[in-house]
Amino acid sequence: MTGLSVESGINASARHRLEAIAQSVGTPAYVYDLAVLRSSFAAVRDDLPAGSELFYSLKANPHPRVVAELIAAGARAEVSSTGELAVALAAGCPAHHVLYSGPGKTREEVEQALHRGVRSFSVESVTDRQRLAEACTRIDTTADYLVRINSPRGSAGGSLRMGGRASAFGVDHADKQSLDQLLRPLGRVRPVGMHTFSATNIADPAELVAEFEQSVRTVATIAGRAGFTPSVLDLGGGFPAPFARSGALSRHPRLRAAIDAALDTSFPDRHRLGTRVVFESGRALAASAGTLLTTVLDVKQSGDRTFAVMDAGVNVLGGMSGLGRLRPSSVVPVPVGAEMPSSRSDVTNPVTLVGPLCTPLDVLAPSIDAPYLHPGQVLAIPNTGAYGPTASLLGFLSRTPPAEVVLDGDRTVAVGRIELRTQEAPLCD
Ligand SMILES: *Cc1c(COP(=O)(O)O)cnc(C)c1O
Repeated sequence: MTGLSVESGINASARHRLEAIAQSVGTPAYVYDLAVLRSSFAAVRDDLPAGSELFYSLKANPHPRVVAELIAAGARAEVSSTGELAVALAAGCPAHHVLYSGPGKTREEVEQALHRGVRSFSVESVTDRQRLAEACTRIDTTADYLVRINSPRGSAGGSLRMGGRASAFGVDHADKQSLDQLLRPLGRVRPVGMHTFSATNIADPAELVAEFEQSVRTVATIAGRAGFTPSVLDLGGGFPAPFARSGALSRHPRLRAAIDAALDTSFPDRHRLGTRVVFESGRALAASAGTLLTTVLDVKQSGDRTFAVMDAGVNVLGGMSGLGRLRPSSVVPVPVGAEMPSSRSDVTNPVTLVGPLCTPLDVLAPSIDAPYLHPGQVLAIPNTGAYGPTASLLGFLSRTPPAEVVLDGDRTVAVGRIELRTQEAPLCD
C-alpha cells in the first residue's frame, strides 16, 4: 500500500509527512489519500460478483476530490440530497449513473434531480413514488425506480440497522398491498427493480453473507408473488471498515461465490435477461483513505484520571456519537509528532481524550493507554475517511444547514445561514 495508508500503524515516512502537513495547514486537519481510495475501491469491487455495479454513497464523504477519484475508478453515485447530487455531477459522474435515494425526498429536490438528468430513483413508499410520478408529469419526462424493501434481518450484525425491523426505510416485505401497487407503473414512472439496504458496518463476514442471502431471497419472493421481473437488483451493502483506529480494510473472499450462488438459485435467468446487480458502499470505499490530524493542547490530572485536551472533538469527528445519538466512539490515535512513545511522560493513568468544546459530551475516547501524550503532540486518528467531518455536527449528507434567524421581540434583526464548502488551499508539499 502507498502513501498514508494505515495498515497496522503509520510508518516513519508517513508520520513525517503527516507532521509536516500538520505544521503547514494547522490542526485539526483531515488528510485524504487518493491512492488508498483507489485500492479500497478495487478491493471492494473484487470481492463482489463479476459484472456487478458498485455505487459510492456520498454521505460517507462528499469531498469533491474523493468523489471524483471514485467516479474515475468506476464507481457510480448513490446520493440523497441536492447537495450530494451537485457534487457527484461536478465530479464527473454522468446523470444516468446516479441513483437518488432517501426516505424524505421533497418535490423540489426530485424536480431538481430530474432537471439535472437523473432518471433512476429508489422509492421508499407509495407517497414517495406518487411524488416522483407527479414531478415527471410536471416536467414532462419519464423515470425509472427501484422499490426499496425492508427485508427481514439476515443476521444480528451491523453497527446501525436500517431494516429487518420496524423502520422508516423502504416498504415492509410483508406489505403486499403497497408492494403490489409499487411494482406496477404509474403515470410516466415505472419500476425496474428492487433495493435493499439493511445495515451498515457488518463486521462478521458470515453475517455479511447472511444479509445478502436474505436480501436475495426476500426480493425473489416479492417479485415472484407480484409477477414482477426485476431488471435491477440493488442488494445494498453493509461492508465494514475500521473507524478511528488502525487496521486494514477487511477482505471477503467468500462473498462473491455466496452471492452468485444465491442469485443463481433465486434468479436463474438473470444472465440471459441481463439483470443488473448493484451494490452500494460509503464506509468501505472511503474510510481507509482518511486520517484526522489533531494536536494535544493540554494534559491534566483530575482525581485518578488524566485528561488530554485536543483541538479536535465531536465538532469534527463522530459528532452524533458525541451527542449520545450513536454508540460512543473510542478513537485510538497514533502519535506522529517528533517525540515518540520512547519519551514517556508522567502520564500513568488511563487517559480520557477530549475535544475543545465546552461540553462534557466532547469525548473522543473515554479511556485509553497513551503514556506518550504531552502538549504540542500531534496525533493521527486513522481510518477517518468515511463519516468524518460531514458526519460530525454540521454537514452530514451535504444538506443545507438550517437558517438562523435573530429576533428582538417582534422585530427580525438578522437572517443568515452557515455556509459549508470546500475551499481549495495551496498544496502543502
Ligand atoms: C448509508 C447508506 C449506504 C452506505 O452505507 P456504508 O455503511 O457507508 O457503506 C448505502 N446505501 C444506502 C441506501 C444508505 O443509506
